[in-house]
Amino acid sequence: MKGQLRINQLFAFVIVDEDGTEGVPAIWLNGTWFPLMGADMARVEDLKRIVAADPMYKGKRVTIQRFGHRETIGTIDRTQEPAVPSITCPTCSRVSYNPTDIRERYCGFCHRFHSDPRAPVSWGDTREKAE
Ligand SMILES: [Zn+2]
Repeated sequence: MKGQLRINQLFAFVIVDEDGTEGVPAIWLNGTWFPLMGADMARVEDLKRIVAADPMYKGKRVTIQRFGHRETIGTIDRTQEPAVPSITCPTCSRVSYNPTDIRERYCGFCHRFHSDPRAPVSWGDTREKAE
């Protein structure tokens, strides 16, 4: 992606529990937990405003730590895996990875067989061919 940020440093918001254990708090945003971390100061400033306003942090001391040493310690490379076959129901758009559903062009949710012969796997096309 053009202009994509390379992560050369990481900022983490850190809270210390009563027993001295450090942790990175997270915020619930758009249905997902996001750890309070960022790779640039613009993100850090956004997160600072969130921490300053969120009642969850009232009475807490939150520090902002910068981690600047980048070292690759491992890689999980899944780029060479074959695509997993699936079938998408043209009626309800649900995806099934079940080999029988794919072979028989069946939707377990609609409880019906579909008949588009053009795309036995990954239908994608929402049109149901009349036969
Ligand atoms: Zn369906």
